[in-house]
Amino acid sequence: MLNLEQRFKRHKLAFLPSPIHQLPRLSEELGVEVWAKRDDISSGLAYGGNKVRKLEWLLPDAIAQGCDTLVSIGGVQSNHTRQVAAVAAAAGMKCKLVQETWAPWKDEIYDKVGNILLSRIMGAETLLEGEGYSTAEKETWKRALDAVRSEGGRPYGIPAGASDHRLGGLGYANFADEVARQEKELGVFFDIVIVATCTGSTQAGMVVGFKAQEKERRVIGIDTSAIPDMTRTAVTKIARNTADLVELGKPINDEDVIIDERFMGTAYGIPDEVTLAGIQTAARLEGMLTDPVYEGKSVAGLIGMAQAGEFDKGSKVLYAHLGGSPALDAYHSAFK
Ligand SMILES: *Cc1c(COP(=O)(O)O)cnc(C)c1O
Repeated sequence: MLNLEQRFKRHKLAFLPSPIHQLPRLSEELGVEVWAKRDDISSGLAYGGNKVRKLEWLLPDAIAQGCDTLVSIGGVQSNHTRQVAAVAAAAGMKCKLVQETWAPWKDEIYDKVGNILLSRIMGAETLLEGEGYSTAEKETWKRALDAVRSEGGRPYGIPAGASDHRLGGLGYANFADEVARQEKELGVFFDIVIVATCTGSTQAGMVVGFKAQEKERRVIGIDTSAIPDMTRTAVTKIARNTADLVELGKPINDEDVIIDERFMGTAYGIPDEVTLAGIQTAARLEGMLTDPVYEGKSVAGLIGMAQAGEFDKGSKVLYAHLGGSPALDAYHSAFK
């Protein structure tokens, strides 16, 4: 166990621990015991999601630095920027968001509904400029930071997904402690954790947090960026930086970072047939909603791996649900 709350500042923004429950009908369908950890329903801040868990560890830093404006970046339907907008509102800060065109999804309402609508309702300024998914530092983001300074504000920069940030891996490193405590209460052990991965700090934090525990397990990242090498590089870098920060005392090996490229579809933000089938299966068997950008792909991965017999008999699989359903309306045409 890492016991990070004794060593780093956490500003409570989520209702933790998030629930863990069985998915009985999906388990029966797949012939493997599947449970879900529901980070999609663990915060009262604008439908929550995995970024709220990460931002709990960044907000104290922003406050300590005397910043008054959170500045971040994502795609037009970014869940991350919506959660930054919510955190800014709850902290009494301003918020500037660069919303780039990352997904080549054509729909008149794409930049009007879902996540971006919620960010606007919460008072964030949404700048529709820039394009192309990348974990690299973007010009558009630097311009937004400069704009805050020239307006006399003090910006706190949060990179895409709150990932490539010194403190970005803490939330999900702490998640691993949380899972271990819940396992004790429930009397189970999850051999495999399935998680959607993109900018990397969710999976990276988990890799570090679980590595600190005695019993080994596999964290399988389902790539959603459709640039899996970039994802692998990002996860590995963040995991190693986080391991140093928390003084893990063990190396993060290349084999610790498992990225499955089979369910990413053709591009970031574009669901394919397999993604849509996964979304419908989870929705129809469990009433559990997932989105076309991230969780639909990881749920499709879970289903695909189970159907291919890739899980050992008797293993218990934990599906980490990271949120994302607020984007569903923007993808209405995929379900016609
Ligand atoms: C951001 C996000 C992810 C990916 O998490 P990273 O930390 O960027 O790898 C997965 N699912 C949802 C719903 C997200 O919003």
